[in-house]
Amino acid sequence: MSNATIVWANDLNGVARYILEVQTGLDCNCVCPGCGARLEAVNAQNRYWKKRPHFRHYQAPELDDCAASAVLTAAKEIVKTITELKLPSFEAIQEVETPSVPEDSSSSGCHGKAVIESH
Ligand SMILES: [Zn+2]
Repeated sequence: MSNATIVWANDLNGVARYILEVQTGLDCNCVCPGCGARLEAVNAQNRYWKKRPHFRHYQAPELDDCAASAVLTAAKEIVKTITELKLPSFEAIQEVETPSVPEDSSSSGCHGKAVIESH
């Protein structure tokens, strides 16, 4: 049994649900993302809880991977909602070959590098 608290689960349609958005008890209609067992929501709708709201396996043992699978479920749900991802700045230098220009051309021709910067 894991010491981690399960606060994410899948509903019967496979959609990730956070503990505070479901009904209390078996009315949460959720299953464990790890083992597929039915879950009951504890303190999901209790505003004055003493023990943190969480999902508990109903008539099934919690396996070692259940809590980890719940964390992955949460991570996948969060990634779905991201519309922008800020990355550290970088500089890329790309060599660009330009076509050679005949000597007798009036243009001077061009050879060089393209520098792409992002900050
Ligand atoms: Zn489980």
